[in-house]
Amino acid sequence: MDTGPAIAIRNLVKRYAGFKGGVGKLALDDVSFEVPQGRIFGLLGPNGAGKSTLINILAGMVDKTSGSAEIWGFDIDRDRRNAKAAIGIVPQEIVFDPFFTPAEVLEIQAGLYGVPKALRRTMALLREVHLADKAEAYARTLSGGMKRRLLIAKAMVHSPPVLVLDEPTAGVDVELRQQLWELVRRLNGEGVTVVLTTHYLEEAEELCDRIAIINHGRLIANEATRTLVEMAREKVVVLTLDRDLAEPPQHPAFVKSERTAERTVEITYDTDRMNAGEVLALLQAQGYAIADVVTREPDLEDVFLHLTSAPREVA
Ligand code: ADP
Ligand code: MG
Repeated sequence: MDTGPAIAIRNLVKRYAGFKGGVGKLALDDVSFEVPQGRIFGLLGPNGAGKSTLINILAGMVDKTSGSAEIWGFDIDRDRRNAKAAIGIVPQEIVFDPFFTPAEVLEIQAGLYGVPKALRRTMALLREVHLADKAEAYARTLSGGMKRRLLIAKAMVHSPPVLVLDEPTAGVDVELRQQLWELVRRLNGEGVTVVLTTHYLEEAEELCDRIAIINHGRLIANEATRTLVEMAREKVVVLTLDRDLAEPPQHPAFVKSERTAERTVEITYDTDRMNAGEVLALLQAQGYAIADVVTREPDLEDVFLHLTSAPREVA
């Protein structure tokens, strides 16, 4: 496969079984998107959005309710073996047998994937994740950061073209986060397509070429990172003015100006170009007196609100 998507997800639905066979949680609600080859793709969403459910379906650890998924052109139902060979998955939870050494962990995993002894890359992989000197240490003696790096090596034993990391940096310190980002970039530089889930907008922004956002099991965006970040740069100031307005005040520097009540306007501005004080000054220069002001910090929630209130084309 040269040009097709690394992963294609079509109309994926997951409803978990409910208590005593009742109707359970709809964790994925008709999700469709494609991950292009060769990139770092981010699947972003708050806790409970359905990210791990989606990854676990790709991993064959959770059964989907309906829809389909292809990995490297292989359907996960019809061509399970090839689909599995094409993907390496780093799960959200760290689980190791504490009495295995990193070298053993990789050898056992290679065995599970049927990698012949002659083709195993145990030491090369350990070097790649900077664990060569820990090859014979017990897993329980490794630091949290070392364990995470070992998990990445473990996911790569069968040299899959696609590597998926489920929340690689949730709860890790800044230094380790930087280390993991560097490792992800290096693997991607070597040609590996990377998919990572995160609930940190900043991480997706830093690392990913493209970002899909899921919220309550629904895909609400699938955009080039730059496009998405520009949305987050827009901030809203909500103003109550001293008199009724026929028209919202306008200025070329405003991204958007909307009258939301008789005396209330919401002005969207680009935080790269101006601040809330300058918005107020422009209005005062036009003769408006301002009775009240509320601003919001841009965050993931804002991007969500923006996206859910103005539905966008999703690929
Ligand atoms: P995320 O990884 O984005 O935090 P998850 O995929 O783990 O989200 O969870 C999505 C939703 O499905 C959540 O509401 C979660 O409680 C629910 N869920 C996850 N796993 C199960 C399960 N095994 N049984 C029932 N509900 C589940
Ligand atoms: Mg998760």
